[in-house]
Amino acid sequence: MPAEKTKKQGRPEGSGNRDYGQSVVVVSKCPNPECGSTERSEYTSRSELEFNGIDPLGQPYNLIVWRACQCKTCGQWRRDKSYETKKDNGEPII
Ligand SMILES: [Zn+2]
Repeated sequence: MPAEKTKKQGRPEGSGNRDYGQSVVVVSKCPNPECGSTERSEYTSRSELEFNGIDPLGQPYNLIVWRACQCKTCGQWRRDKSYETKKDNGEPII
């Protein structure tokens, strides 16, 4: 029996990122100009593109992910974009 099984919520401060690295979600709002709400449904689908770049916070990313969701206020569909990093060689990503 492993004695060191501790319950952890979240990650300790200052520790590195885990497998998924970090992600920056660009919060978009409803494209309907008369709505503009940021309330959304759960994400329903996801598509991604491997692409290297710099996110809005100045951090490098290597993956762009789009997730579809629906505006809770007016029902308009939209896609939220996020910039993520994934490790492909096991090395930590800043
Ligand atoms: Zn809306």
